[in-house]
Amino acid sequence: MNPPEAREIIAGYLSGLRRIPFEELERACSVLETAGRADGTLREFRHDLGLTRRDLSVCDVFGGRAAEFADLPRAARERLFPELTKHVEACRPCRRVLWDLKPLWEIVTTAARARCHVLTEPIRLALSRKGTVEERGSGFPSLGAVMAVACAAEMTLHAPEELAVPPGSRRKEWLLKDDEAECSVRLIVEVSDSAQATLRCVLESATDAAPRPDQVRIEIRRARNNSLFLAGPLSNFQADPIVLALDAWVIKLIPNDAQRIPSWEIPLQLEPNEETEDD
Ligand SMILES: [Zn+2]
Repeated sequence: MNPPEAREIIAGYLSGLRRIPFEELERACSVLETAGRADGTLREFRHDLGLTRRDLSVCDVFGGRAAEFADLPRAARERLFPELTKHVEACRPCRRVLWDLKPLWEIVTTAARARCHVLTEPIRLALSRKGTVEERGSGFPSLGAVMAVACAAEMTLHAPEELAVPPGSRRKEWLLKDDEAECSVRLIVEVSDSAQATLRCVLESATDAAPRPDQVRIEIRRARNNSLFLAGPLSNFQADPIVLALDAWVIKLIPNDAQRIPSWEIPLQLEPNEETEDD
């Protein structure tokens, strides 16, 4: 395959007119990469592909490719669609489109036949010393301020006062719904001035499916070596939130009733925000 052939394959793919097997597309991309033609912005890429006359926004391009994009493993996405990968990280509406298509949980059965629902992509946050928190990567989007209040009104909370403060630049909140378990994990991260994060987990349900906090064990481990940082009944950490330093963490919620309720595993990466560090 030479670069003009590779371009033709990708042009056919992007136009939606040709169905290209994944291996062929991957080969075409690596041919262009080797020839130095896949660098630069999506506009330049499309110009190279002779697609500039089609006046599509990046959001339109993503919309047309979202299903395939959602199916690809993360590394393949970054290699095949570097511009779209970057775009999804920055564009909240497109991230919502992605997560409308992508399953939130991967179901893993352990040797002991216990079910564990693992969040399919880590939640990544950049924390600054000024006490701001921003989302990074293409993880499940946090609730907007309006959404958080709407959800609070809709759900029966164990602690409604949790939501007295709407999410802002210091606070991010996720409602991770698990339809199979009829439960949701609400995750609230707040940043302090010293670039540490405080974490709260609440299990909620519209029915009575959610276990009480004293019926759930929380474990927090360091992702790099699986060492245990903290463990205990979730009820111990409802009033006093958990303080986490910048690191990659894995949060596990393990209900006592493992027969009826799965456990949940949520990777959480806390990174320094380099951009706001210097000014
Ligand atoms: Zn977009």
